[in-house]
Amino acid sequence: MFNTVAVTNDKPRSFFKKEHLLFQQSFREFLEKEAIPYYDQWEKDGEVPRLLWKGIGENGFLCPWLDVEFGGFGADFGYSVVLSEELERIGSGLAGISIHSDVVAPYIASFGTIDQKHRYLPKFSTGEMISAFALSEPGTGPELANIQTTAVKKDGYYRINGAKTFITNGLRADLMIVACKTDVDAVSSLDGISLLLVDKDTPGLTRGRKLEKDGGNGSETADLFFDDVAVPVGNLLGEEGKGLSYIMQNLQQERLLCAIGSLVAAKDMFRLTKGYVKERKTFNKNISQCQKTRFTIAEIATDIQLGSTFVDDLVCKHMNGENIITEVSMAKYWITEMSKRISVRCMQLHDGYGHKGDEKIIRRHRDITVPSFHTGSDATVKTLIANHNGF
Ligand SMILES: Cc1cc2nc3c(=O)[nH]c(=O)nc-3n(C[C@H](O)[C@H](O)[C@H](O)COP(=O)(O)OP(=O)(O)OC[C@H]3O[C@@H](n4cnc5c(N)ncnc54)[C@H](O)[C@@H]3O)c2cc1C
Repeated sequence: MFNTVAVTNDKPRSFFKKEHLLFQQSFREFLEKEAIPYYDQWEKDGEVPRLLWKGIGENGFLCPWLDVEFGGFGADFGYSVVLSEELERIGSGLAGISIHSDVVAPYIASFGTIDQKHRYLPKFSTGEMISAFALSEPGTGPELANIQTTAVKKDGYYRINGAKTFITNGLRADLMIVACKTDVDAVSSLDGISLLLVDKDTPGLTRGRKLEKDGGNGSETADLFFDDVAVPVGNLLGEEGKGLSYIMQNLQQERLLCAIGSLVAAKDMFRLTKGYVKERKTFNKNISQCQKTRFTIAEIATDIQLGSTFVDDLVCKHMNGENIITEVSMAKYWITEMSKRISVRCMQLHDGYGHKGDEKIIRRHRDITVPSFHTGSDATVKTLIANHNGF
């Protein structure tokens, strides 16, 4: 059986007030009852049931940062940290919920019209609607300005043609935010991208099969195909041509959440490994007593301490509204790398037993590569860091 005991021994964090801890406690209790017993099966199924989304929403855990009129309670980002961390504690397969709550919904809250907000956000917060953000394309690569999906405006509609790939929640999303090229002749291709809201039943929209993945299996990922999909001009999110600028504005929070999730996974692998080396005996002594093991434990503990200090500092700055996109990109790159490094070392300490298919450590080992791809590849993230350093 997979070991699904939650990580314990949290250290107090400056941005957590009493209210955050209460929220954390009650969300943890909810998940212990409603998610942990079923998580192994969801990983096999390749999706989590809608019932869980609804349960999380109806109990007030989804999009808590939304204004009261849209179903939230005006919570600060500390609550989003709780949501994301508690989901990741159970497994990376729940990442789609966090993406819905703290990556997709903020686009509508920040750039949507009042009508769009009323139409979608209350249902986002109850879990009645699942959302996705569709940017990546099969052939486009990291250069976003190269997006090939087009949306041509005519007679009150945008007609969308193209394809998207790797879209989290793509199969079941009721609403998708789709990045399209609305001005193929724009002098700067950066000005030609817009974001459009596409409802699930719009004719011409088809979804590919659920993509087979090697990690984060509970979170479904799919291809989307747009064959002359007509959406009313009223489905434009924000201003035409401002899509890339909106994506850049939201990137700070997205990358920060990515670093946060990756760190939780690293901590969980460390917890599992500490438990294992204390139990496993060779030559009549626990392997935890070997000097090599102790040094490895010391090195992992140091990595995690550094990562936690870095992330917590960035969370405080993000909550203060500071522009820290470079630092957050550094955290995303460094922590996702660090987690992969830790994963290899934890697997080495488990050795053969780490490769038994039903051990949680092997699942973590598979899942740990996924955050490296989210919110841009290493190349994209490092390019931004180099640019900010004058290169
Ligand atoms: C599980 C999962 C969920 C996802 N969910 C979503 C989603 O919901 N919505 C969405 O839009 N996308 C999503 N994606 C897509 C994800 O954002 C992309 O995979 C990511 O941006 C990397 O793009 P790519 O896979 O095309 O890799 P590429 O950009 O092709 O990169 C491949 C490799 O080449 C390197 N590389 C690229 N360019 C350079 C260069 N100039 N110099 C040196 N090295 C370079 C990269 O670092 C990387 O190692 C998801 C992906 C996965 C795996």
